[in-house]
Amino acid sequence: MTLLDGKLLSENIKSELAAEVDLLRERGNKIPHLAAVLIGENAASQVYVQSKIRSCEQVGFKSTLIRRPADATEAEVLEIVQSLNEDPDVDGFIVQLPLPKHINEEKITLAIDHRKDVDGFHPVNFGRMAQGLPAFLPATPYGIVEMLRRYNIETAGKHCVVVGRSNIVGTPISILLSRKGYPGDCTVTLTHSRTSDLAGEVRRADIVVAAIGIPEFIKGDWVKEGAVVIDVGINRIEDASRKSGTRLVGDVDFEAVAPRCSHITPVPGGVGLMTVTALLMNTLKACKREIYPN
Ligand code: NAD
Repeated sequence: MTLLDGKLLSENIKSELAAEVDLLRERGNKIPHLAAVLIGENAASQVYVQSKIRSCEQVGFKSTLIRRPADATEAEVLEIVQSLNEDPDVDGFIVQLPLPKHINEEKITLAIDHRKDVDGFHPVNFGRMAQGLPAFLPATPYGIVEMLRRYNIETAGKHCVVVGRSNIVGTPISILLSRKGYPGDCTVTLTHSRTSDLAGEVRRADIVVAAIGIPEFIKGDWVKEGAVVIDVGINRIEDASRKSGTRLVGDVDFEAVAPRCSHITPVPGGVGLMTVTALLMNTLKACKREIYPN
């Protein structure tokens, strides 16, 4: 069994990005600039945004954090989005989700200029991705395909079962893995909470992608011998043996599943770190106008 090491991989990619930044600087070109908008005090969101800003610093990108309290109005957030759309120095930006309930997330996402949508959540990018056109790929699925690519995991003709159909993970990764080319050319089954025989579906998979949000949901005997298992879940559970009283686990019962797999991602240290790195890769592409030249 091989661990798919998101930490090592993301460090390698960050070194490559840092080298690119050095090259841009030497040539007198613009340095990538990512902005992040954080509304409210959601603890997990604060951790995610801080990690995005810190990652920018590590690779030499410029970053800007714009914070507003939880009672910021929708109009205020739209105004921030508009100003970032118009700021020529900002190559890409994200509005950290979830937003407070009184703010319509769809409205905010639609207001972001798709040419700066480095989260890949705008329907223009999603649609272009589905059609196989150049697009900013959503960060988590982008991180997963990059992981498969860098570990040379064969995907052509493989049966991939995705569990969970969210717009940010399950649905886009099912599209990416079924597209023509590498990593792709899989036969994909997209499963969800209404799937009738989930264990049976997962048992047929050569590649399993778990993005459900339920701790250790995928059991050992659901997974075929030799399967590749990508665990997207990040769940905090109680653990009295830890000083903090909690620990992170994925959506896969790692202890039971790992011995059966050819490859598996750990949690933490797997997909999560690749997600932040994918955001940086998108930001560099935005700065170099790789997706939208004009
Ligand atoms: P979501 O809540 O938007 O979607 C969950 C999906 O799971 C839904 O499509 C639902 O149909 C499916 N589901 C729920 N119960 C099910 C059941 N009993 N059987 C089968 N399917 C079921 O979640 P999400 O945003 O896709 O996130 C999923 C997990 O991944 C969460 O733990 C989240 O924290 C984590 N996540 C991690 C990263 C990362 O960077 N590693 C990024 C995004 C999300």
